[in-house]
Amino acid sequence: MKLKCVNCAETYPPIMIYSCNKCDGILEVFYEKKDLNDLNKEHLEMNKVNTMWRYSDRLSIGDDDNIISLYEGGTPLHFSKRYKSELNFFKGELYFKDETVNPTGSFKDRLVSVAISKAKEFGYNKIVCASSGNAGASAAAYAAKSGIDAVILAPQSTPKEKVIQILAYGATVLLVKGHYSNSYKLAKELSERHNLCNVSTTYLNPYGTDALKTVAFELNNQLKGEVPDYIFIPIGSGPLLKGVYQGYNELVQSLGNIGATMPKLIGVQAEGCAPIVSAFENNKEVVTAWGESNTIASGISDPLIGYEKDGTYTLKLIRDSKGSAVSVTDEEIKKAMRDLSQFEGIFAEPTGAASLAGFRKLCEKGAINSSSRVACLITGHGFKDMKIYQEMENGLHYINDISDLNAFL
Ligand SMILES: *Cc1c(COP(=O)(O)O)cnc(C)c1O
Ligand SMILES: [Zn+2]
Repeated sequence: MKLKCVNCAETYPPIMIYSCNKCDGILEVFYEKKDLNDLNKEHLEMNKVNTMWRYSDRLSIGDDDNIISLYEGGTPLHFSKRYKSELNFFKGELYFKDETVNPTGSFKDRLVSVAISKAKEFGYNKIVCASSGNAGASAAAYAAKSGIDAVILAPQSTPKEKVIQILAYGATVLLVKGHYSNSYKLAKELSERHNLCNVSTTYLNPYGTDALKTVAFELNNQLKGEVPDYIFIPIGSGPLLKGVYQGYNELVQSLGNIGATMPKLIGVQAEGCAPIVSAFENNKEVVTAWGESNTIASGISDPLIGYEKDGTYTLKLIRDSKGSAVSVTDEEIKKAMRDLSQFEGIFAEPTGAASLAGFRKLCEKGAINSSSRVACLITGHGFKDMKIYQEMENGLHYINDISDLNAFL
C-alpha cells in the first residue's frame, strides 16, 4: 500500500500527508494488485461482521487492534415499492442505500472511523475537523471512543441539532462566520500550526476517503453482483462519489470482465450551491468556486473556495463513469424528504434526500431509461435537521379534552 497523487502519479509511503508535495494534487491510497485478493476476513470479531470492516483487507489499517469502530457501514438496502408505484413512468428497480443508520447518523462515519484509526496509529492525540455538521459529529464521536481530543470547526449556519450532537460527544466546537470554505481554511491552519491530525472530509485525508469505497462493495454484495445502471449521490466536494467510483473500479479489477462494470454516477447538488453541476453543464474541464451558497441542504453547501481542484476531480470521475450532474431546488428536496418518509419510512435530512430529488428530476426530463436499475444514496438522518419537517403540513392536532376528540373524529 502507498499513497499516489491523482494528478502527477507521484507516490509516497503511507505517512500522514494531505496533498502531493510536487503538484499539490489529491492523494489517494493505492493498493498493489496483490492487496486486492480476498474480500472477507475470516478472523473478524463477531460484532464487525456486518460492518464495513468485513472489507478490512482493503482498508488501510495495518493492525486490527488499531481500529476505532462504532460499527459503521453494513447499512441496509431498501427496495422501493410505494414510492416507485407513485412514479408510474418508472418501470425499473429503485433502491435506497440507507446511510442514515450509521452510528452518528451519516455515511461520514465510514470515513472518520478510518481517518481516526489512522491518526491513532500515527500517534496523534488531537484531531481537527472542518465540517458542515455531520463530519464533525462523526469526528467527535470517534475521538471520544479513542480518547483523542477533537476540535470541530463549522459554519455558524450549521443546523443546531448537529452542533448539539457534536457537543454531546465532548468536542470543542468553533462556529466560524461565513460558508464552509472558511471553516476548511482555519482547520488547515490549525492542523499545520499545532500538528493536529486533519480529518476534514474533503479529499484532504487519503485514508479517510478511501473507506468510502465500502459503500460500493456493500451495494455489489446486496445486489448479488448486479450493477445499478445509475447511482445518485449528493455531492459537496465529492469524496463519497469518488468512493463509489473507486469501489466499483476495484471490483472491476479484481473480478475482471466476468464481474462488475462501472455504473453511471450522478452527482446531485442544490441549485443554491452547484459549482460541479455548473461546470458539467457548461462542458468545462475545471470547476470554479461558487459565490453565495443558499440552500436548505447544509451537508452539500460547499462553495469549494481554495480547493476547487476537489470539484474538478469529482467532475472527472463523473464523466469517466459516463454519468452526469444535476442540481435540484429546495422545493424539490422538500418533496423528496416527504416522499421518502411517507412512502418508504426513511427519515432523511435535506441533503440526504437530495439524491432522490435528482433521480426524480432526471426521470421527469426523460433522461433515465424507465426500465433501469437505480440506487439512491440516502446520506444523512432526519434527526440532524428537523426545521424543514416542522414547517411541513402534518397530522398534528392539539387535544384538551373529550370534546376536542369528538370534533376531531
Ligand atoms: C458530507 C455529506 C454529503 C456530501 O459528501 P461529500 O462526499 O463530502 O461531497 C452528502 N450528504 C450528507 C448528509 C453529508 O453529510
Ligand atoms: Zn502530484
